[in-house]
Amino acid sequence: MRETNFLIENNARHLWHPMAHPAEMQATPPRIINAGEGVEIVDIHGKKVLDAVGGLWNVNLGYSCEPVKEAIRRQLDDLPYYSTFRGTTNSPLIELSYELAEWFREDGLTRSFFTSGGSDSVETCLRLARQYHKLNGQPERTKFVALKKGYHGTHFGGASVNGNANFRRNYEPLLPGVYHLPAPYTYRNPFDTTDGAVIAKSIARLFEDEIAFQGADTIAALIMEPVLGAGGVIVPHETFMPLMREICDRHGILLIADEVITAFGRTGAWTGSRLWGVKPDFMSTAKAITNGYYPFGAVMIADKVAEAFESNKTAAGSIGHGYTYSGHPVGAAAALATLKETRKQNVAANAGARGEELIAGLEALKERHELIGDVRGKGLMCALELVSDREKKTAAAKDVVQKVQDVTYDAGVMVRTSGANVILSPPLVITAGDVARILTALDAGLTAAR
Ligand code: PLP
Repeated sequence: MRETNFLIENNARHLWHPMAHPAEMQATPPRIINAGEGVEIVDIHGKKVLDAVGGLWNVNLGYSCEPVKEAIRRQLDDLPYYSTFRGTTNSPLIELSYELAEWFREDGLTRSFFTSGGSDSVETCLRLARQYHKLNGQPERTKFVALKKGYHGTHFGGASVNGNANFRRNYEPLLPGVYHLPAPYTYRNPFDTTDGAVIAKSIARLFEDEIAFQGADTIAALIMEPVLGAGGVIVPHETFMPLMREICDRHGILLIADEVITAFGRTGAWTGSRLWGVKPDFMSTAKAITNGYYPFGAVMIADKVAEAFESNKTAAGSIGHGYTYSGHPVGAAAALATLKETRKQNVAANAGARGEELIAGLEALKERHELIGDVRGKGLMCALELVSDREKKTAAAKDVVQKVQDVTYDAGVMVRTSGANVILSPPLVITAGDVARILTALDAGLTAAR
């Protein structure tokens, strides 16, 4: 391996990073991560830290999941690639679609469409939702409704339904016909209340109002994350998603659950939709489906939607959409092994139990650190929102947030920041001891940033 200075200089010179300013790379070079073991990562200096980011909400089983690594190695030997466009398929993929149908049968989602990641999965849902309405004789249903603070990836469709200006502004104009409702955000909302049930009802009323204004017969789908992740881990009241489902049903609007983060156990339930007792029409998944070891995603499609496609024998039912890497055999093998381990280790239960410990510990930190304005979480997706003034809820300055992250890292734990939020999404296999380690390191970070 080249020496550190060569790597840092050439990173700044030649490499543009996602969600980063290219001009910042020399002054604030990224940490170079060269190894992973268990729930820890090792940087180029040999420093080992607990990865409380879990890769990027995806390495749910940690970095040493041998069955997944072995499945990838074996599949690379057997068949490293073949297309799944009309006319060909591959064995691990068929097995995977069977396993996914078993996994999601109780949700009425037994058809799958494969992608190369979360943004592709979202795009697939948006496109197939429109096609479904065309098949159903309602071609004018083309609009989408989404939530502010929602994150749905970075393709033009996904960016259009995205609810964060940072991911939209530089790329406008985006898709027309997209409308955003307020986020179910207890800490900050336009309703002057901290009552989650009232917030849920208020947003539902605005949804109904928007439907009346646009005309129900022009709206294709509502897309939402069951727990909003990248927007700062916003956990809605338990009534929220069922309310939105009920409104969609009443108006013939499809519900797309974007479960790129929440599928496969992160919230303590196997999916975010199940957590709230909702059956979506489309479910986008990616990330943890291969434990982050291979870029891959799956869209699960409700039986009622699937039947409309399958029963229409004309070109209108043909799927004019897909990716070179849709159904990649190595991704499929990785996903099969991941799902098996995910079930075997019952990681959803561990996420629920460790999540409760982590959230209780974060609440205790809030008692001692004025810098913490809000603590949020469900299972092992948690956030601290940092403020410089609790009374006024003024967002903490960028350098303060950075200091928290840096000192927490020095104390042995990697956390992620997004705006004034510190985001925690560790592997779902962490122990109670790991939770204590995260809290101790965060305490050090928060103390240093005072
Ligand atoms: N949807 C949600 C809810 C996500 O959290 C993400 C990524 O974090 C995406 C979509 C986009 O996924 P990807 O980055 O794999 O394209």
